[in-house]
Amino acid sequence: MAMRMSTLFLRTLREDPADAELPGHKLLVRAGYIRRVAPGVYTWLPLGLRVLQKVEGVVREEMNRIGAQEVRLPALLPREPYEATGRWTEYGEALFRLQDRKGSDMLLGPTHEEIFCLTVKDMYSSYKDLPLSLYQIQTKYRDEARPRAGLLRGREFIMKDSYSFDVDQAGLQKSYDAHREAYVRIFDRLGFEYVIVHADSGAMGGSASEEFLAVSEFGEDTFVRDEHGYAANVEAVQVPQAAEVDASAVPAAQVHDTPGTPTIDTLVARLNEAHPREDGRAWTAADTLKNVLVMLHQPDGTREPLAVGVPGDREVDPKRLEAQVAPAEPEPFTDEDFAAFPALAKGYIGPGALGEDKPAGIRYLLDPSIAVGSEWVTGADERGKHVLHLVHGRDFTADGTIQAAQIREGDPSPDGHGSLTLARGMEMGHIFQLGTKYAEALGLKVLDENGKLVTVTMGSYGVGVSRSVAAVAEGNRDEAGLVWPRAFAPADVHLVATGKDEAVFVAAEEIVSGLEAQDLTVLYDDRRKVSPGVKFKDAELIGVPTIVVVGKGLADGKIEIKDRRSGDRREVPVEDAVAEVL
Ligand code: ATP
Ligand code: MG
Ligand code: MG
Ligand code: MG
Repeated sequence: MAMRMSTLFLRTLREDPADAELPGHKLLVRAGYIRRVAPGVYTWLPLGLRVLQKVEGVVREEMNRIGAQEVRLPALLPREPYEATGRWTEYGEALFRLQDRKGSDMLLGPTHEEIFCLTVKDMYSSYKDLPLSLYQIQTKYRDEARPRAGLLRGREFIMKDSYSFDVDQAGLQKSYDAHREAYVRIFDRLGFEYVIVHADSGAMGGSASEEFLAVSEFGEDTFVRDEHGYAANVEAVQVPQAAEVDASAVPAAQVHDTPGTPTIDTLVARLNEAHPREDGRAWTAADTLKNVLVMLHQPDGTREPLAVGVPGDREVDPKRLEAQVAPAEPEPFTDEDFAAFPALAKGYIGPGALGEDKPAGIRYLLDPSIAVGSEWVTGADERGKHVLHLVHGRDFTADGTIQAAQIREGDPSPDGHGSLTLARGMEMGHIFQLGTKYAEALGLKVLDENGKLVTVTMGSYGVGVSRSVAAVAEGNRDEAGLVWPRAFAPADVHLVATGKDEAVFVAAEEIVSGLEAQDLTVLYDDRRKVSPGVKFKDAELIGVPTIVVVGKGLADGKIEIKDRRSGDRREVPVEDAVAEVL
């Protein structure tokens, strides 16, 4: 059924909404697709919902194509499974926690590894049941520190998340590859210019975790790539110097004897000097806390992220952070270690792993809205025992008073070949070989061929569905409004009837029926008391790909067809209208 502008639940705005930052987002609000309810929380209006459903449709088709089965799990979840995997704590302040009337702890799901794992455990017990891939398209909740850019970073948002279950690594690799191919098809169909980047540092040559980044100046991630096809999120790049460094060969003086080694305070001061905030307020240590990350390199080549921060910080409770970075296997740093490291001593919170789910933990510390384009500092402590990476946001400049290994344009690749270029991207999808972490914590085992219990190995895969709507809008617009690709437009044709002549509205109704008979969806501007100028402006703003105008020309038997993207217009005989649009 045609959507009629006379009754459609829609109000277009001439002015930009005050709280919108990005041009595409402003247009989505002005054109009546979405409305903000609270920071990072949006209502989908009829036009917006249609676009969202089309994006969902593409994702659904491609997931079904690889044999994944759609389910829907609750968003309101009990604490216990998240306790069992450690994520009740690890997720930190991004987790929406609540209590029911009996005082039981609950949460709103930020992602669903635990519950999928338990659901499969409930129902399956044999290797014969596997492989299995399940997915859902569902509302997720994360209390993002800086919900910005509208739908791109919501606190309530829609994600397609899927989970694969296999008996062994070979099976997981197959499930992962199938998802990777599905994602390629999804993002090709969405029309993004995207890159697939390594998302974790172990991924040189491997593919344990990859991200699909839409290349965009509005992206919150920075990635590097070289001419040989290597591409990685900067968070995942192993700086060559660090990979090769022999701890005992690094002169102790390199770091701690250097005057001006930055403490948190000097970093903040430098940040304010070099990159004053646009909103006028000064950067505080609280901003830098989430922006600083220290990686400990163990002699055996493993890396452990260490937190650096300021006790008493407002935004991140150091106690909670300490719980997150609970001492891990490697011997924790001692006070002497930190005495040898003035840069770290002041803000040191605790050593250890941030859990196996490192990207989540790392991201918790690195606020992506400011930690774009990291710089890296390498050094060793006095005894040459540890090699450290200080990773900090682009806003911090190492000013030469410390020996810094920074990723710059033209740097070689981690494997020593090629030269790196830096660009911005927006994470649209993420595929991840989880392995047995969740299955182990929650006891998901099946009997193998020999009747032996084996732990199931899992993968998890996410697509930002609502973020994709925003990204399509961001990439398809002009001065006058949105310019949807046909596949995602809220309608195929925007039919505008102008003037007072009743014959115009009669002819327009006929065209609506004709178009609908051809399975085209129509947005019909049948408003009687609205000027042609306003109608044309609305049509441009809303951005349906084909605009048909029935008006004055009808007296000569003509209507006009306009292509929203190119602006090309042509007059055609009214009786050919439907055929000409097709
Ligand atoms: P980001 O790095 O942008 O914070 P993430 O790595 O935390 O994303 P994942 O946990 O990998 O996100 O979730 C899978 C996908 O969900 C992401 O690739 C992204 O497209 C989408 N997504 C994540 N957070 C948000 C959000 N706050 N609003 C909208 N979409 C999101
Ligand atoms: Mg995130
Ligand atoms: Mg990410
Ligand atoms: Mg991710």
